Amino acid sequence: MDRMPAKELSPQELGEQKAYAEAFRKLEDRPKTYCIVTYGCQMNERDSETLAGLFVSMGLTEAAGREEADLVIFNTCCVRDNAQRRALGNVTWLKELKKTRPHLLVAVCGCMMQQPGMGEEILRQYPFVDLAFGTVNLHRLPELLYRRVCERRRVIEILQDDRSAIPEELPVLRSSAISAYVTIMYGCNNFCSYCIVPYVRGRERSRDSARVLEEIRGLQKEGIREVMLLGQNVNSYGLDRQGELSFAQLLKAADETGIPRLRFMTSHPKDISEELIGVMAGAKNVCHSLHLPAQHGSDRILKAMNRRYTKQRYLEIVSHLRAAVPDIALSTDLIVGFPGETEADFEETCDLVRTVEFDSAFTFIYSPRIGTPAASMKDQVPAEVSSERIQKLIALQKDITKRRLKSQIGQIQRVLAEGPSRRDPLQVSGKNEYNVTVNFPGDASLVGQFVEIKITDAKESTLTGVRMEKGV
Ligand code: SF4
Repeated sequence: MDRMPAKELSPQELGEQKAYAEAFRKLEDRPKTYCIVTYGCQMNERDSETLAGLFVSMGLTEAAGREEADLVIFNTCCVRDNAQRRALGNVTWLKELKKTRPHLLVAVCGCMMQQPGMGEEILRQYPFVDLAFGTVNLHRLPELLYRRVCERRRVIEILQDDRSAIPEELPVLRSSAISAYVTIMYGCNNFCSYCIVPYVRGRERSRDSARVLEEIRGLQKEGIREVMLLGQNVNSYGLDRQGELSFAQLLKAADETGIPRLRFMTSHPKDISEELIGVMAGAKNVCHSLHLPAQHGSDRILKAMNRRYTKQRYLEIVSHLRAAVPDIALSTDLIVGFPGETEADFEETCDLVRTVEFDSAFTFIYSPRIGTPAASMKDQVPAEVSSERIQKLIALQKDITKRRLKSQIGQIQRVLAEGPSRRDPLQVSGKNEYNVTVNFPGDASLVGQFVEIKITDAKESTLTGVRMEKGV
């Protein structure tokens, strides 16, 4: 795989978009409120914070809901078919709303738009969509929206550039005052045979580590207590920039900034290094939890998936992690029904789950994505077989999760209070080090603080507890 240095958006490009944002603010007949609907992963959630920042720079404010907004934008995902269908279903729903509110603008952006032929499909089949653009040109929102409003015609701009510039210095409106996402790299070079991401997000481009660390320090000054470093495969951070830190070095430096809590995702098992495991073990603020997508337990299927590790290797990594960080919580992603998966292959996945005893697992039925090698593989697994298998897998993991949560009863844990519990306003909800939600009696004054909680009970996927002392 070629490794070329990543480039950042030029001051000229940024200046042009700022000028469009300024000009847009002065338009009389322009949308005043926006609503962003986000699908998919944390990378998309982070992109939506940039969209919000750009809208605010253009003089828009967030609407109370999509029914009240002058502009609704869908930041889409195409990793699975149902995410794509849900997004398109919701876009179509707005077509009806437009009949009663003709000034409403509908925009679509994100990964779904980067798929080949999607621009043409939007033009043809979704005539009520006013604006569409992809992940590559998100920073051009001010210009594209300005053109839509001034020229009064649809603007569809989808660029194909697998080494697009890193969008530094764009405005951001963070959705939380407590925790923040910090993207450290964009794109993916791995081409797992089922995955559309490398086609829609392009090649790996790492941000300059100095900028990443500066961002973390800035967030800390603003009062952010927890940072999640994001990338499709954080373990290959820096490989595209000569002389850049490795991911393990970046994590260590991020830990040394003193940000109270650090997490990261996603880690490809093939790239996890002993150096990284060592940093996790020695760091002060890096959480003892790791998302390590196994995807499957059968070597035959892992090979067909182009994952480049075996079940044995995965188990070795897990045992190294547990030797270095004994209380580490492991979560994973698992796919059932990959083409050619037999009962025996599926049993290998169940065996992996039983052997590792993951704290939690995200389970998915394989979803063919046009343009990926797996979509044209022989022996696609019938839907009813996949559905039966996933039920078995979910039940298996559910028992393990319950057991793992129960084993935490009696522990005193440091919980970051995030807000009132959704079920009980007299309770506060927060996350422990292992990324598990903990509910405990308390009030809004605790939000944003670390609180010592004694765990008293375990539910299906959450814990409950009582406060040991005042927030620290
Ligand atoms: S590592 Fe594999 S699954 Fe993850 S984004 Fe890259 S190609 Fe997709």
